[in-house]
Amino acid sequence: MLLKSEVERVEEFKNLLGSSKSIVITTHHNPDGDAVGSVLGLYHTLKSMGYPVIAITPNGFPEFLSWMPGSDLVIRYSEQKYNAVNYILSADIIICLDFNGFKRTEEMGDVLMQSKAKKILIDHHPQPESKFDLQFSFVEVSSTAELVYEVLLSCFGANVVTLDAAICMFAGIMTDTGSFSYACSRGRTFQISGDLIAKGVDVEKVQSLVYNNFTADRMRLLGFSLNDRMKVYPEYKSAYISLTKDDLKKFKHKIGDTEGFVNLPLSIKGIIFSALFVEHDSFIKVSLRSRGTFPVNTVSQKHFNGGGHVNAAGGKAFMSLKDAELLFENVLKIHSTELNS
Ligand code: 5GP
Ligand code: MN
Repeated sequence: MLLKSEVERVEEFKNLLGSSKSIVITTHHNPDGDAVGSVLGLYHTLKSMGYPVIAITPNGFPEFLSWMPGSDLVIRYSEQKYNAVNYILSADIIICLDFNGFKRTEEMGDVLMQSKAKKILIDHHPQPESKFDLQFSFVEVSSTAELVYEVLLSCFGANVVTLDAAICMFAGIMTDTGSFSYACSRGRTFQISGDLIAKGVDVEKVQSLVYNNFTADRMRLLGFSLNDRMKVYPEYKSAYISLTKDDLKKFKHKIGDTEGFVNLPLSIKGIIFSALFVEHDSFIKVSLRSRGTFPVNTVSQKHFNGGGHVNAAGGKAFMSLKDAELLFENVLKIHSTELNS
């Protein structure tokens, strides 16, 4: 339940929804399961209540998320720039989900800042960086999808959440917690998931659509990454996987294929810090994960132009893949004491 101090914000949100002729719901670049799940969860619910909503993502999303009901209705800014810009600039309110700074939407961020719409944040990342007119920002909540449900519950009650919305929100919670294995130590996450399941979500089907829907090439890339591209540093309780553009090409890489790879080294006994480096044309995409208190968001902020959560963060390195690996080794030396404490 939201605390009493949030009641005023709930009222303000309801008033803003009620007085808007055009509502845009959006999320971060390269949307993940929680981003797509919370956008569509909120979209379906508000749409079914008659609100004038449009869902926009900065770019496309992987196949393992495209099965979500309504994914074909989402406007991809990168593919339909003209329409997306028009909607953003003429919106009365823009609901920003699962990110804490406009720059997380990349190029679309400039348009968001230009828009005179009231910006509302619903998110679980620490310390929102951009200016929002109204914020529902809770770091302790497992996922933005869980928080969207909580906000809807406080605004309108559970009955307004449709089955399609429930499926999307459940998928958001499930993916952001690694199928309820991390970031879900609050019982509330399970209560809300239970409520969503009670609405008719087929858990086994959602699991299969997300995790048993890969190409053979992706599975081979996974094997190759672990066998040929993983370096383990037991003395720092750390490991990384790095993939070149040629590696990706060899395994016919599609967007989303490396999702989850960064978590795998954490399954090695004793490893508490893991990284994934993926070579792109003009930068190295960096993903960081940890167990316990080692704060990868601070590491990402300091060394990899990024941020995120304590145990899951990301960023970019503007250097060669080799140099990113060397930088990582340096980071291990710098943080040696914390890693071994
Ligand atoms: P992933 O490693 O799955 O790309 O991202 C994990 C988390 O790190 C995301 O949920 C997000 O909070 C954060 N993150 C990823 N990339 C960036 C980035 O470029 N900048 C910032 N500030 N955070 C990022
Ligand atoms: Mn999230």
